[in-house]
Amino acid sequence: MSCLFCKIAGGEIPSKTVYQDEYVYAFEDVNPQAPVHILVIPRKHIATSLEIGDDDNELIGKLYQAANNIAKERGIADRGFRLVMNCNAEAGQTVFHIHLHLLGGRPMQWPPG
Ligand code: AMP
Ligand code: ZN
Repeated sequence: MSCLFCKIAGGEIPSKTVYQDEYVYAFEDVNPQAPVHILVIPRKHIATSLEIGDDDNELIGKLYQAANNIAKERGIADRGFRLVMNCNAEAGQTVFHIHLHLLGGRPMQWPPG
């Protein structure tokens, strides 16, 4: 498997681990866009949000719950934070293994660029 995030979740490529369990792995984004910028990924390889299937519903819930817990731990839950999953080229997806960007610690603009 040549996927960068599969390798990161498997420990083949180093990352700054924030949280992990049987299903989910979370790590610091290497190029942070906010004071808190963490990537939350499923251990299962899913290329884009379009490939999320019926079997993945529970997994996607776990992804959001992990992100929420990290936001609470980092003290940004009440202030507010953003969870973003880019899909395909125009949205800016560059790594084709789904990931939630957990962004926070500064005011966010809307609409996003
Ligand atoms: P996206 O553009 O939505 O696909 O997001 C990919 C994210 O992965 C970007 O925010 C990158 O900074 C981040 N990224 C790429 N390579 C690494 C890496 N080796 N470790 C941590 N984050 C990475
Ligand atoms: Zn992968």
